[in-house]
Amino acid sequence: MIKFVEIEAKSVLNRHKFKDNWFWDRYSINPYRGCQFACNYCDAISQKYLTHKDYHDFTRTIYVKKNTPKVLLKEIRKYKPDIVGLSGVTDPYQPVESKYKLTRKTLKILAQNQFPVHIGTKSDLILRDIDILKEISRKTWCTVSFTIITYNKDLLSHLEPLAPPPERRLEAVRKLNEEGIRAGVNFIPIVPYILDSQENIEEVIKKASEHAKYILIGSGMSLRSNQRIRFMELLEKDFPELVPKYEKLYGNNVSPARDYVTSLNKIAKEFCEKYGIKNYIDPPDFKRNPEQATLIPNGDYDKINRDVANHLLLTAFFKEFKSGNFYAARNYHVAAENIENLTENIQDIHKQNTLEVIPGVGKTVSKVISEFLGKSSKS
Ligand code: SF4
Repeated sequence: MIKFVEIEAKSVLNRHKFKDNWFWDRYSINPYRGCQFACNYCDAISQKYLTHKDYHDFTRTIYVKKNTPKVLLKEIRKYKPDIVGLSGVTDPYQPVESKYKLTRKTLKILAQNQFPVHIGTKSDLILRDIDILKEISRKTWCTVSFTIITYNKDLLSHLEPLAPPPERRLEAVRKLNEEGIRAGVNFIPIVPYILDSQENIEEVIKKASEHAKYILIGSGMSLRSNQRIRFMELLEKDFPELVPKYEKLYGNNVSPARDYVTSLNKIAKEFCEKYGIKNYIDPPDFKRNPEQATLIPNGDYDKINRDVANHLLLTAFFKEFKSGNFYAARNYHVAAENIENLTENIQDIHKQNTLEVIPGVGKTVSKVISEFLGKSSKS
């Protein structure tokens, strides 16, 4: 029996220190705490996020932040428009959303204030909000990612017992793209030794390629704190033969061994090439509204600085994907952040040959920027 508890949030719009280079979000909003879909690999139950005192309650008690729209209306005026991720640690379209419509109300406010969005979900309830998603796509940028990790019903009953079937999610991807709203697939996580067969990887990528604009590959499933405890309990109960294999693959680490991740990434990338689908989301190309000038002091060159920053983040993404190491290109993230915050035009700095004054920009990053600016001035 699930308990729903209405609460009042003090703050709802979270600003991240660095922009994400998978989903491009700068902010996140979680209208709910806890999730009815109860996926057994969910990392939102780890202590890092502290959503519930007892992690067992994550799927049994759903906190409903009823005043989300009211608080958001106050907070949004203070922030520069940028991608808002819905949601980081819950599914914004879990069943309770049918009743409270907090995600819908949130999207309306984001649309009115010209904030772009990325939405991650497993539910086709999102189709209810096509009208607002179209408005956001028209005004700025809107992208929706549906998690699909396998079509094997038996395995899904262990891994995602209460989420809508993947066929419905894929159909929603098709429908959204047909309506002009960019939609793709998150193949995250590829659960080690359960979902990492060539057959499963090929099937998920092949089917995605028929309807999705992209597929993101998550080969490095995390196992941290409570998430690890719960997942290992599942293995002991349903897949006991895998317990020693996991112990070897992870040891005491949060991520699987690097060579495992790189070899899976390589296989997945080859299938993406075979079926002609991107394994990344193109950087957002929206323009900020000049009416919001007080929030954008660098208005005239806001877009070019952001394009350069995004190009660095995408370059970092490719490096991280290839090496299987999330930290392989931290300097690119630092440089991108500083470039977005510049109060000068990056093109002028480039012309003066002083790019390396920007923190995070060394010789290599400087070369990447120069090449990018050279290309964009020709196009
Ligand atoms: S849908 Fe997402 S947030 Fe909800 S339980 Fe599954 S992994 Fe966790």
